[in-house]
Amino acid sequence: MKHDNLHQLLDTWFAAHARDLPWRSPDCTPWGIMVSEFMLQQTPVARVLPLWQEWLQRWPRPADLAAEPSGEAVRSWGRLGYPRRALRLHAAAAAIVSEHDGEVPDSFDELLRLPGAGNYTAAAIASFAFGKRETVVDTNIRRVQARAIRGRALPEPALTAAESELARDLLPSDPAAAVRWNASTMELGALVCTAKAPKCGQCPLLGSCRWVAEGRPEPHYQPKGQSWHGTDRQVRGALMAVLRVSDVPVPSGVLLDPAAEHPAAGAGTALRKLHSLQADASQLERALNGLLQDRLAEQTADGVQLPG
Ligand code: SF4
Repeated sequence: MKHDNLHQLLDTWFAAHARDLPWRSPDCTPWGIMVSEFMLQQTPVARVLPLWQEWLQRWPRPADLAAEPSGEAVRSWGRLGYPRRALRLHAAAAAIVSEHDGEVPDSFDELLRLPGAGNYTAAAIASFAFGKRETVVDTNIRRVQARAIRGRALPEPALTAAESELARDLLPSDPAAAVRWNASTMELGALVCTAKAPKCGQCPLLGSCRWVAEGRPEPHYQPKGQSWHGTDRQVRGALMAVLRVSDVPVPSGVLLDPAAEHPAAGAGTALRKLHSLQADASQLERALNGLLQDRLAEQTADGVQLPG
């Protein structure tokens, strides 16, 4: 398939089917786009939307977030998951204030130097906030390209040089077209060319998709299941929920021992949820130590609390 044709097909589809998301509005600031990119890492749009609105109302500029303690960012992250993103966003806001006069920088290299911005995030902000010609490669884009171009059921387990090269090769040379291509391929992967059940009948690429033409071959490896129940991540999430709602530091004995009396106002339900997981003492301790090491929580003389 000629790339021009591919670009045209996706452009037309995107114009008709793209979701109306606030961070795609022409009024959205680069900071709004940056916050959305951090929140959307490994998190679906529906869960991000309400929190994004809240954050942008409370912290409309990087300086507003940077002026508050990092613990407020973690507390406001709520149950979005992977709360280290809140700390990194707070640190990125502080760097924007101290190094870029409070304005989100517009070049990939400067964005890449911000805390928490990897290749994907830096390219996405440069592309979507500043119209730069950058190759954006996320899971959705990799899956569409794996199927439509390479005839594979799934992208590789981790980004390979070949996938990056293909993505660069497919990127339109015109910057505005490149931005549309990034957004439309990502949207196609999110809405149509989904991981488990691609809706090929609704896909603008159906007539030229290599995976479909080759009879939808099975994946070339067995993807790992993402179990959640009983994992350290689940226990960490439950610990964070206690710290978010407690009005006072929570003694670690209360966090680690289901039988301990707890003095933390407002945290009873969250504590019961934590201990209903029936994590053993070593898992609880490991999860708590992990939060302290990651600076998502801090130990004070009175107990454990969100960072000040
Ligand atoms: S035809 Fe199906 S597999 Fe191919 S790109 Fe479209 S949705 Fe994905």
